[in-house]
Amino acid sequence: MVQVGPVRFGETRPVVIAGPCAVESREQTLQVARAVKAAGAEMLRGGAFKPRTSPHDFQGLGVEGLKILWEAGRETGLPIVTEVMDPRLVQIVGKYADMLQIGSRNMQNYPLLVEAGRSGKPVLLKRGMAASLCEWLGAAEYVAKEGNLEIVLCERGIKAFPAGEYSRNVLDLNVIPAVKEETFLPVIVDPSHATGVASMIEGASCAAIQYGSHGLIIEVACDDEGTAPPKCDAAQAINPATLKRIVRFVDAQTESKAMRKAHAF
Ligand code: PEP
Ligand code: MN
Repeated sequence: MVQVGPVRFGETRPVVIAGPCAVESREQTLQVARAVKAAGAEMLRGGAFKPRTSPHDFQGLGVEGLKILWEAGRETGLPIVTEVMDPRLVQIVGKYADMLQIGSRNMQNYPLLVEAGRSGKPVLLKRGMAASLCEWLGAAEYVAKEGNLEIVLCERGIKAFPAGEYSRNVLDLNVIPAVKEETFLPVIVDPSHATGVASMIEGASCAAIQYGSHGLIIEVACDDEGTAPPKCDAAQAINPATLKRIVRFVDAQTESKAMRKAHAF
């Protein structure tokens, strides 16, 4: 079990993390944070440091973004997870965030894993986009070796045929039971980066929960009139109403699982 504030990963109830892809402004972040809280999410995500394919694209607000996230977390009471890309920034990100995210591109950035291990903060370790289970668990071991066992694994889709044709990546749900077989660490699923397509997120989320995922991390954007589309990953952003349906599904599944457990005796 991994605890982040009042949130527990690895217990019967899967944890739903939601929020914007990137922190773009104070107004946008607070709006999305309030909406995901109202929809029933338990944790807030949002990138202040963004790993973008093109150096010409929006790179995130950096430390300014961390401060905005912190404020959104304080206001809503939601613990925060945000990505850290640079070992030199682990300390400052850890000052504002409740959980450090190691992104897919950095799964094998060993100095970063070591720093995250030393930070004493819970770590959300995303699977590298072409990483085997063995490589992924090896990365987790780098964090663990520093004495930090507060690790949650996150499947976010892998680059395999036919990735890119109709979805961004291939969502490898089979890895969930495989992870559970190999380790005691909780494992969650990111349907947003796994599919890249907003209309696929609800189905992918429900499938992940039924496959035994300990949680979900989902990108959300507000769709109120006059709200600008997100600068980052707009095609995969779901609206708060869809998030609410996913949370309801998680609740219903949790309830029926608890019922089945109770009747087993
Ligand atoms: C993210 O979650 O913001 C992100 C960039 O995801 P990934 O590292 O899985 O691509
Ligand atoms: Mn994104």
